[in-house]
Amino acid sequence: MIVGIDLGTTNSLVSVFRDDSFEVIPNSLGDFLTPSVVGLDDEGQVLTGAAAKERLLTHPELTAANFKRLMGSSSEIKLGKKKFRPEELSSFILRALRLDAEAFLGDQVEEAIITVPAYFNDSQRKATKIAGELAGIRVARLLNEPTSAALAYGLHHEKECRYLVFDLGGGTFDVSIVEYFDQLVEVHASAGNNFLGGEDFTEVIYQHFARLCAQVLGRDAEALPPVLDKMLKFRAEQAKLLLSTQDQAALQQKWHDQVIDLTVTQDQFENWAGELVMKIETPIRQALRDSKMRAGDLDEIVLVGGATRMPLIRKLVTRLFRRFPSVQIDADKVVAAGAAIQTGLMQKHAALEDVVMTDVSPYTLGVEISRQVGDRYADGHFMPIIERNSFIPVSRVETVCTVSDYQPKIEVRIYQGENPMVKDNIFLGSLTVDVPRKKRGEEEIDIRFTYDINGLLEVEVEVKSTGKKSSILIEENPGVLSKEEIASRFKQLEKLKIHPRDQIPNQALINKANRLYQENLGATRDYISELLANFDAILSRQDEREIREAREQLGEILNQIEEDPLAQ
Ligand code: ADP
Ligand code: MG
Repeated sequence: MIVGIDLGTTNSLVSVFRDDSFEVIPNSLGDFLTPSVVGLDDEGQVLTGAAAKERLLTHPELTAANFKRLMGSSSEIKLGKKKFRPEELSSFILRALRLDAEAFLGDQVEEAIITVPAYFNDSQRKATKIAGELAGIRVARLLNEPTSAALAYGLHHEKECRYLVFDLGGGTFDVSIVEYFDQLVEVHASAGNNFLGGEDFTEVIYQHFARLCAQVLGRDAEALPPVLDKMLKFRAEQAKLLLSTQDQAALQQKWHDQVIDLTVTQDQFENWAGELVMKIETPIRQALRDSKMRAGDLDEIVLVGGATRMPLIRKLVTRLFRRFPSVQIDADKVVAAGAAIQTGLMQKHAALEDVVMTDVSPYTLGVEISRQVGDRYADGHFMPIIERNSFIPVSRVETVCTVSDYQPKIEVRIYQGENPMVKDNIFLGSLTVDVPRKKRGEEEIDIRFTYDINGLLEVEVEVKSTGKKSSILIEENPGVLSKEEIASRFKQLEKLKIHPRDQIPNQALINKANRLYQENLGATRDYISELLANFDAILSRQDEREIREAREQLGEILNQIEEDPLAQ
């Protein structure tokens, strides 16, 4: 079986194409969204999703979130004594999604199409493919998230339509301009910001809450106790969600014998978020410019991603485009829906036969060259070979020559970016070729860049005088694992115990109870302890029906405790 996977910064989803349409698959808790959170429990077993998310607050040193932002870098994340790379943490999420899909479909899942932000660079894409391999999934294709969303929307329209896909997730912002015409989904331009998302909006509310707490406690906002600090982050997220349906969010935080009022109004929020909103406009301008369109040329604005639920985003979109955005498909599910449709296309599903999709490269790729200034050469200049927003797959060649007399080699240094000097762009890798020693300018090489449908780059260099060719599929990127490293990591991960899928709902509930215990005091704590002891006793009796009933009950009680922050 092949599935579609939206591997998000905050939430991930798995979907399938069957019976002529897409379905998003629920996880073991019955939720469509699986939080992209991984942790180790006290026995060292791996926890994923909601069960892990609950422990972000109670066991921060054993739990990790937002690791998608680190994909493609060589950083490691510490969970207790163990260290993990971002692609390993992602592989745990992918594995959990695979198991959920297998349980739902009653069939083995070997393959997946995984979506990535359009703005993901070469190393980030490779890391995503590696995460798939580590999870035992063959990655049939990487699909740009907005392209995926566009695909889902394209199939929704009967007639020709030009639309802008606006995807604001937890940590990334992507915008694409897409045309649907005669069964063809054509992406004209993609732009975005990998470091802008819903979490940044939570942060401005958190800053406010920290100031409020600091005032009440008479401390510095930067020097709040870590436990309180974490709780404030959690409260800020709650407040942000409330502000999507209310004009004001009024929360409270207990700290020892004090109760701190945490209130934020929609107007305040909009004020503080002003700078973030301005950052959102930049990629929109760029995408419009690159596709040579004006706001008035667009027929529809499609909102994707949980953070587009914020009223201030809807206001912004309405102001910029002078029309209301459309949300025909649930904003959380659009990307996963498109990925499932793409699996259908790959399998040449009868219902989808005539649909064709084209995509573009979201960034410029090129090499470092020396430029002649008077009679000297200055290093460090960037020569684009594939310009951003070229249709992919694409292959282009440029010729360069030697710059000094009897130069024995040419080093081809490959970069990605939009700046004239390579030091301001991202280094992707390098390739060195020998050339016959001749006077400067007499030896030439052809540099061919081939950019495939997955957004992966292959570079081929041919020395013209000798006809000798060398090529690299840029595997040696800084920050990307080598084949041998992948194999050894795979072995190590296999040794780790993964929490059994059917226990995840129980575990999630226990972890939630523990979090509420930490947040509350006095009588509520006693009550929670008692509930936990009871639930534990029922679990040990191993009667599935009894466990299910107890779980439902406990879930309801915990929700009540959670809703009323002053319950004692
Ligand atoms: P990603 O694709 O990055 O995983 P999602 O599309 O799932 O992200 O969006 C997650 C973000 O959306 C989080 O920052 C979350 O706080 C935010 N979000 C989800 N629901 C709402 C809501 N109702 N109001 C405001 N923000 C929301
Ligand atoms: Mg997303």
